[in-house]
Amino acid sequence: MQALHLKTGLDLPLQGVPEADRETLSPPARVALSPARIPFIKPRLKVGIGDRVAIGSPLCEDKSDPRLRFCAPGSGEVVNIRYGPRRVIEAIVIELDADEAAVDFGARSHEQIAEMGRDALVTHLLAGGLWPLIKSLPFRTIASPEETPPAIYVGLGGLEPFQARPEVYLQDKLDRFKLGMRLLEQLAPEVRLGLPMERGETLTALADLADFEFRGPYPSDDPGVHLFHLKRAPAENRSWFIHGQDLLLLAEFWRTGRYPIQRLVALGGDRVRRPLYLDTRVGVPLSHLVKGRLRSQGEVRYVVGGVLTGYRDRADGFLGWEQTAVTVLPAGKEKEFLGFVRPGMHKHSFSRSFLSALRVAPLSMNCNLHGEVRPCVACSNCARVCPVGILPQLTFKSALAGEVEESLAHGLLDCVECGLCTYVCPSKIELSRFLTAAKRTYHKEQTA
Ligand code: SF4
Ligand code: SF4
Repeated sequence: MQALHLKTGLDLPLQGVPEADRETLSPPARVALSPARIPFIKPRLKVGIGDRVAIGSPLCEDKSDPRLRFCAPGSGEVVNIRYGPRRVIEAIVIELDADEAAVDFGARSHEQIAEMGRDALVTHLLAGGLWPLIKSLPFRTIASPEETPPAIYVGLGGLEPFQARPEVYLQDKLDRFKLGMRLLEQLAPEVRLGLPMERGETLTALADLADFEFRGPYPSDDPGVHLFHLKRAPAENRSWFIHGQDLLLLAEFWRTGRYPIQRLVALGGDRVRRPLYLDTRVGVPLSHLVKGRLRSQGEVRYVVGGVLTGYRDRADGFLGWEQTAVTVLPAGKEKEFLGFVRPGMHKHSFSRSFLSALRVAPLSMNCNLHGEVRPCVACSNCARVCPVGILPQLTFKSALAGEVEESLAHGLLDCVECGLCTYVCPSKIELSRFLTAAKRTYHKEQTA
């Protein structure tokens, strides 16, 4: 097995990371689909308030490609369609029935995978609303059903602080994962799975499916990082990828013929009393997810998805379609008296300018920026953590100046959107967000 020893990146030792503790969450009264949180689509509604839907009925589709549909995560009545600024559809809310009905897409046996053929498989995944889980590099867009990529990378994740670890979500699901791998083999000539070198029994059981192993700090588990280090030709830049938890959903849909709504969510962060994993369902209200689980003091912030790559949501938001982590952090709005002369025993510091550099215990994270946005001071912190060796500060400056060719030459398209450059920047420049936006603009221009 090929070995990748990755040196660049950063591990953050933080308090409030969920351990293996696991519970089943009580059923919610309502669930919702949040189209505004699905990147790259322009949603068109397929339902109105008062309509009745079953699990798997289409709620909306992409205006540019109506084959990309997004399905109801519950059965009941559509009671609210919440709009945000510029009329973006924030949430399609369903009041759940006591006995939920589900659309039957037809269960398939393991043996049928090869017989079905690629086209029928793609049509089946599109009909069931599962196709958008497969993404295409380098833009991380939804894969095009017409294309055959050079390879599909499977990312198990788990290194970003507060994300679900593969040993937990794969427990008792290895057969389903292997079925998912067989499905992917129908879609591309090569399926590439990487396993961490330090792995327990669960991941070792997948060794016969893996073709490389890796070691390194966050984000060395990212499919984009794997592609960057393993590609043999530029054509491979158009490879696809899928996350491990999403692959389980594809297999579940194949096996049962029903739209899979179950999710394992990692609930963590400094404000959570007992960080743990919750067996729940997609679209669950965040207020239901955290009810009775937060420490009482101070204002909090909800981050859905990873703490470096996710998005901020309100307390009345819902678990996103693709998200499996919710982190609750102190809002950190308090001003620290004479903060600039304090030794910073409890503050993170990549540059080791605080005393916390001597501490081995995990640190508490909050949302305080400890200062305002300032001009770049050319410290190169961002370049020292970038896992794909680009110079984020120069890429940022050329993209800001509209020098597209120059930012591409600096490696804009290799950016894996990991968020580390923003995290370590002492000038508080949102490099990662800006570079992600620049990539999307470039993609839009290319596809226009
Ligand atoms: S430039 Fe991209 S890949 Fe590099 S650290 Fe920033 S977000 Fe991560
Ligand atoms: S980390 Fe921030 S201040 Fe330092 S070089 Fe990068 S952009 Fe400039």
